[in-house]
Amino acid sequence: MKERKELEIPKNFIIRTDRLPEHGFDFSETVTGTWLSALLAESDPEHEWSFAQDASVRVQCRPQGEGVILESASGTLAEHPCTRCLRVVKFPVNFQIDMYLEPGEEKELELSEEDFSVESFLGQDEIHSAMQLASRERGFFKDGVVEVAPLIREELWLQLPDYPTCDNSAALEPAGCHGEVLESSKAEELRFRQAKWAGLADLKKRLPSDS
Ligand SMILES: [Zn+2]
Repeated sequence: MKERKELEIPKNFIIRTDRLPEHGFDFSETVTGTWLSALLAESDPEHEWSFAQDASVRVQCRPQGEGVILESASGTLAEHPCTRCLRVVKFPVNFQIDMYLEPGEEKELELSEEDFSVESFLGQDEIHSAMQLASRERGFFKDGVVEVAPLIREELWLQLPDYPTCDNSAALEPAGCHGEVLESSKAEELRFRQAKWAGLADLKKRLPSDS
């Protein structure tokens, strides 16, 4: 069981959209491996990932319409004991975030068949901006604040392999694994899914709950 501490969030990672300059801004923030590990622990306290290196996280944020465009990129090296033989395996992790975030909350659209004729629920302007933004992932923020850390956590969970074994092709130096299977693959799968879902649930929690 790992020690649980309140994670200190770098000030830069909390972006107040009302203070965003017209042309946005751009910075690099160095976070330690310990910090990245603690960030993952917020959605899965029992995870066994660790990060041996500091990571420089590049963030660009600029206003776009009602919302903001957020781009971020970083790379680091993650380590996890092989789930079969427990040998520590290293995995390069590179991520890139390219999102359009808007104020509000995710709408659960319940569409009837008629709604699929696009004109029935979208105006021309909306169609135009939807097409412009279609290439970016969408997200939401509330209270005028964009938080970068949860987005990084989501991205890390997406990049880290579900089955960190010696022979995983994503490993820095994939090698043959001669270990016994320590957990049934079913249990393993459930564990990793839970960790990822916890991350998503956490994102949802940050959205306004009243609809
Ligand atoms: Zn192994």
